[in-house]
Amino acid sequence: MQMPAADQAIISRKSEIVALLSAALSDGVVVHDPVETRAYECDALAAYRCPPLCVVLPRSTDEVAAIMRICHEQGVPVVPRGAGTSLAGGALPTEDCVVLGVSRMVAVLEVDYPNRFIRVEAGRTNLSVTGAVEDDGFFYAPDPSSQIACAIAGNIAMNSGGAHCLKYGVTTNNLMGVTMVMADGEIVEIGGAHLDAGGLDLLGLICGSEGQLGIVTEATLRILAKPEGARPVLVGFDSSEAAGACVSEIIKAGIIPVAIEFMDRLCIRASEAHAHSGYPDCEAMLIIEVEGSEGEITEQLSRIIAIAQKHNPVEVRESQSQEESARIWLGRKSAFGAMGRINDYMCLDGTIPVSELSFVLRRIAELSAEAGLQVGNVFHAGDGNMHPLILFDANKAGDLEKTEALGAEILKLCVEVGGCLTGEHGVGVEKRELMFNQYSPADLEAQMQLKDVFDPAWGLNPAKVFPLSASKSRRTG
Ligand SMILES: Cc1cc2nc3c(=O)[nH]c(=O)nc-3n(C[C@H](O)[C@H](O)[C@H](O)COP(=O)(O)OP(=O)(O)OC[C@H]3O[C@@H](n4cnc5c(N)ncnc54)[C@H](O)[C@@H]3O)c2cc1C
Repeated sequence: MQMPAADQAIISRKSEIVALLSAALSDGVVVHDPVETRAYECDALAAYRCPPLCVVLPRSTDEVAAIMRICHEQGVPVVPRGAGTSLAGGALPTEDCVVLGVSRMVAVLEVDYPNRFIRVEAGRTNLSVTGAVEDDGFFYAPDPSSQIACAIAGNIAMNSGGAHCLKYGVTTNNLMGVTMVMADGEIVEIGGAHLDAGGLDLLGLICGSEGQLGIVTEATLRILAKPEGARPVLVGFDSSEAAGACVSEIIKAGIIPVAIEFMDRLCIRASEAHAHSGYPDCEAMLIIEVEGSEGEITEQLSRIIAIAQKHNPVEVRESQSQEESARIWLGRKSAFGAMGRINDYMCLDGTIPVSELSFVLRRIAELSAEAGLQVGNVFHAGDGNMHPLILFDANKAGDLEKTEALGAEILKLCVEVGGCLTGEHGVGVEKRELMFNQYSPADLEAQMQLKDVFDPAWGLNPAKVFPLSASKSRRTG
């Protein structure tokens, strides 16, 4: 993975830039000791790292605006950061950049149950948004597996999803408004606390823009009343293809479970060794959850189980209690971490039409065998959002390059079957050069013209999302 050369003129002005920022901000906001900035050298795509010029951890939107004004005047690039859990290298710094982290901005600003929204500062973690309203019977639906750590800011930037997004949609479907600081420090409000806001739908543009257009400091989020009940059924199969075919048939039947999650043998075993959820030892497994009243749950599960029976399952286990349901989900939510116990891994994120699941899983197995690298699959099968995990050894010469090449082949396959390069993790640096496989030069030019409008100097999160060759004249211009 290539990054452009850093601007040495900026690096040589480090103390001047740190002094300007420190003078404008409250104590402790600017972090510039290389020992302390080390924690910000990478995000969860830890294969790539780079020390930043310095890090700023503001406490308010006004402080973010002050930082942006200074960086704009000084021509210093800014890399926005939430919790740093991006798997696409979205928060990877450059040597000449200021990392702007919103992790101190965690307040709940307003809760409005009659109008079903919550307004929070953008550094608040995903899970603690639900935590703020659950005692009153509400929840925030998008639930990335990283929800205990990841921030709403990062969720908005990546348009994050999660296991339960099959029914409720991803971040963009649950985001109502943002406060955003523009590249020159201007503070703007986009969207609001109502179903629709006047003017153009700029909110749709901001959600998923990967820190390219501005710094999100506050968010108004849709909250929902908790369902009466929910119940998962766990179904084991003797092949990935059978599990994939079962998913297609459930969706084709018009049933919308709240989640359909897939795990293959490698992931089942890794997760079981870690979380002891009582998973069957089989080739592939689905966790299918439905919710509603007791009658709705029983009716939906009986239809789902009837479909599953047609695919010769090796085990069908309907949860019998809340404790069992929690145990089933614990295994799934721990799967990524559990795979990390086996080896280093690169987690891909591509989306495909659900009807192509069986074919794509078979092709991934073939590509994995050809490359000599093990690939585990754990993903949101109901909406076709795949997460092949390629295991490799970061200390073995050449392994990372082989992994990158296999990852590229798998993502190209997703595009070839009618899907796209990312479902929820974003493009970042990981898929930047693959954008040519999905978009024509004219498409990319149109997307870059949008960035021109918000960030004319291209100082926000440089060298991400757009292929380096396509963005070069703008970045160096
Ligand atoms: C174990 C694990 C499991 C995961 N599971 C899921 C999953 O199920 N679903 C899913 O969608 N993702 C998942 N992820 C990926 C990751 O958690 C999400 O992309 C998450 O939204 C990133 O949030 P963050 O706060 O950590 O953002 P960061 O990693 O800090 O940043 C992500 C992007 O957001 C930008 N950004 C951050 N803050 C701002 C801001 N204030 N304004 C503008 N841009 C900003 C950054 O520049 C970067 O481009 C997982 C990650 C891990 C490590």
